[in-house]
Amino acid sequence: MQFDDDARLDTSQVEDRRGLPGGRAAVGGGLVGILAVLVAVVFGVDPALFGVSDDPVAPPVGQATSSAQLQSACRTGADADRRQDCRILATVNSLQNFWKSEFARRQGQYAPAATVLFTDRVATACGTASSAVGPFYCPSDRKAYFDLGFFDLMTTRLGARGGPFAEAYVVAHEYGHHVQNLTGTMAKVGGDRQGADSASVELELQADCYAGVWTHHATTTPQASTGRPLITDLTDQDIAQALDAAQAVGDDRIQQRATGRTNPETWTHGSSAQRKQWFTTGYRTGDMAQCNTFD
Ligand SMILES: [Zn+2]
Repeated sequence: MQFDDDARLDTSQVEDRRGLPGGRAAVGGGLVGILAVLVAVVFGVDPALFGVSDDPVAPPVGQATSSAQLQSACRTGADADRRQDCRILATVNSLQNFWKSEFARRQGQYAPAATVLFTDRVATACGTASSAVGPFYCPSDRKAYFDLGFFDLMTTRLGARGGPFAEAYVVAHEYGHHVQNLTGTMAKVGGDRQGADSASVELELQADCYAGVWTHHATTTPQASTGRPLITDLTDQDIAQALDAAQAVGDDRIQQRATGRTNPETWTHGSSAQRKQWFTTGYRTGDMAQCNTFD
């Protein structure tokens, strides 16, 4: 995964709330020993559904952030090649640029979604969430939330190989949920949130497919600001990283690692094979109309 060295990054798309009060002190356990929790919620849509509580200690949504640091560190594509947080920011830039143009092509209107980087816990319009829920998208405030520590956990606890494009896949999956929020698909899921045939699984697999659609177009869609693609190169190895990550976060694989058994009745995201398959469908076709997981 290679970025256009000279491209300027749009830091306004990422809020940096790492290390803010309401974070570390209030948390027990952090990212350690939470595999059981992740079984239920890894890559979740709405933490309010997963026992996330209101917390008076947490900072209010919209509190002043430490984004100034990110702004000075992440100026160009060269910074994105060097630093993980700048790479996540640049990935968000690329994703939103693609979806904006794709919505326009389909006579739709894309509304941008900010990404929030946090450590340990974060206040959102969906409630206060801890890192234990994994990366998530909150439809109420239209923001994607990432504790970058999850990417370590993905390799150490979930057995993924990791790598830059494994991380990009996770970011792209969350922006897939944002697309579903804008198109109204997310609202259709309702209470059908568990089981191999549930609407939740269909929603999650579609988000994987949308991640693949972006991947297909990532190196060819020009950024509005430069006229050149922000991502200049994706290799077979990058795609393999994404597929490996998709496999690692399959419900059957997570359950097998955690308990030695699989139980399709409690699936929320789909099996390893399904997640790989739907990412691949999006990646091969580049066509969101092929992401018909609900049919
Ligand atoms: Zn998801």
